[in-house]
Amino acid sequence: MNTFEMREFDGHELVLFGHDEASGLKAVIAVHSTVLGPAAGGCRMWAYESSDAAVTDALRLSRGMSFKNAMAGLPFGGGKAVIIGDARTRKSPEMFEAFGRMIDSLGGRYITAEDVGTTTADMEVVARHTRHVSGLHRRPGEFGGDPSPKTALGVYLGIKAAAKFRLGRGDLEGLTVAVQGVGGVGYHLCRLLSADGVKLRVADVLPSAVNRVRDELGAAAVSTESVLFEDVDVVAPCALGAVLNAQTITKLRAKVVAGAANNQLAQDRDGLMVHLAGVLYAPDYVINAGGIISVAREHLGGASDAQVTAEIGGIPVRLIEIFERARRENRPTNAVADQLARERIHAAQRRLVA
Ligand code: NAD
Repeated sequence: MNTFEMREFDGHELVLFGHDEASGLKAVIAVHSTVLGPAAGGCRMWAYESSDAAVTDALRLSRGMSFKNAMAGLPFGGGKAVIIGDARTRKSPEMFEAFGRMIDSLGGRYITAEDVGTTTADMEVVARHTRHVSGLHRRPGEFGGDPSPKTALGVYLGIKAAAKFRLGRGDLEGLTVAVQGVGGVGYHLCRLLSADGVKLRVADVLPSAVNRVRDELGAAAVSTESVLFEDVDVVAPCALGAVLNAQTITKLRAKVVAGAANNQLAQDRDGLMVHLAGVLYAPDYVINAGGIISVAREHLGGASDAQVTAEIGGIPVRLIEIFERARRENRPTNAVADQLARERIHAAQRRLVA
């Protein structure tokens, strides 16, 4: 693999390959930008089919974090870590201790937190060796913990904004939303949508996850193959990346795609296809910023739950700004969001060198 020449490299400041023989840890830490502050972004554990696939994922996610933090107005740059291995079978405290030492060796240039395949309990182990970690167990009187409910809140508010913009709807009552993946974020999103009278269609590879939303909220179960292509008002991808690609976009029947998953577009240019198909896409890193806002405020300290919730209220405002500009300029929403994020980072860079 020729990392510097990869399309995903995109000016990364640092890519670290970490290995700990005793615990079997193999990790890649990617720091895209520290212009706005230390690079903040979670740690994913995944059974990548190759180390090339792990590097590619780390780079894409890391750039996404730069854009996400910039658009959320947080004093953080963008970075991401991936641990190679099956989170169900390969985890050990020793592995996360080694990971903690690796994070600490960067001296605060990168701050980690949980992501797909890692948990608050894992981050507690990381915290034995570094203070550059967030998303820890909530302590009495302090704000923090699992960011999924806050991510779900931002996505819910984003769906409301998109429904207003694209469907002309003042509320969500009676709309149908298909949710792909009802894990940490998807489950909380379903609860919020259900409380607004939304009809839910859900799919997950885990039957227990589907059963929970079916039993608690009356959601209809659909297959994992069809969930993106259901005849619904909104599709909310809350599982995997790259779900919007040349094979899937032409089969979409919803007018809005708005969900939590990172890197929903397989490639940046797929945003044009979505745009030409007349589908309103809520850029992933804008709509799913609730979690990083939570993790960032936990790390910085001093914020209350009410203040964090109010900050998440900025997400639909930013989305409407992007939707309006995309309509005015007849451009894909992801291209508009990328441009705004880059402008924010470049403006900060100019201030730094001035
Ligand atoms: P999670 O692992 O708790 O839930 C994901 C769910 O998707 C699981 O239940 C899993 O079984 C299911 N799934 C996996 N493959 C699937 C498939 N092919 N079809 C249907 N379901 C499938 O993860 P999460 O924390 O809920 O995060 C979901 C997505 O949102 C991820 O892409 C994550 O990167 C992104 N995200 C999460 C947060 C957060 O705060 N947790 C913040 C920002 C972005």
